[in-house]
Amino acid sequence: MKIILLGPPGVGKGTIGQMLNEKYKLPKISTGEILRDEVSKRTGLGLKVERYIKRGDLVPSKWIIQMVKHRISKNDCKKGYILDGFPRTVPQAQAIESEGIHVDMVLDLKAPDKVIVNRISSRRLCHDCPAVFDTHIKPPKKKGICDVCGGKLFRRADDEPESVQHRLEVYHAKTEPLIKFFSAEGILIDVDASPDGPKKVFRNVERAVLAHHIHMK
Ligand code: AMP
Repeated sequence: MKIILLGPPGVGKGTIGQMLNEKYKLPKISTGEILRDEVSKRTGLGLKVERYIKRGDLVPSKWIIQMVKHRISKNDCKKGYILDGFPRTVPQAQAIESEGIHVDMVLDLKAPDKVIVNRISSRRLCHDCPAVFDTHIKPPKKKGICDVCGGKLFRRADDEPESVQHRLEVYHAKTEPLIKFFSAEGILIDVDASPDGPKKVFRNVERAVLAHHIHMK
């Protein structure tokens, strides 16, 4: 099963992807996470992409497509995978299709911009593990400290209000056209991602998938 998670920044793609990963044992591939890792390790790619990410702009597709192709060619992706943050544009989707890669479903996580802005403002990430917290809905037990590993929590540089507005504009202009694209392929599934709390949204995901008579495997 190959799944794409579509939706605006901050809608919960990473969290839902993590929950799908735990339940269905499919690797979750987040292009944003891979890029942030490259940046923090100061690799050649990391140094090239840093300024795009900071501004909230998309990184040029030639680097992204190469990176994704390399990642999904690995052994753990043989049975399928969950793509979080890729494709971000119609040309990116066309690029993987032209390689003969076809996904089974696209989960379109939907929530109003106002909900998104609130969610991003309270999002905190752990420095040392993939845990994500929400200072309103899922605060850490100890302020600024990860419940899972004790690492320090931080706010992503591109989660600052001025970048968020720009990232939303980029989403509407460049990524939203993918809704029509995948809808025409008959693989788009709408999911209401506006409820507070990942469990409620995950329930909506499973309900929406069942309604399409798709069996996760
Ligand atoms: P995300 O963690 O998905 O919000 O991604 C963070 C940032 O990484 C984005 O704002 C872009 O700068 C970059 N990025 C992630 N995925 C892609 C992609 N598929 N195409 C271009 N840029 C990307």
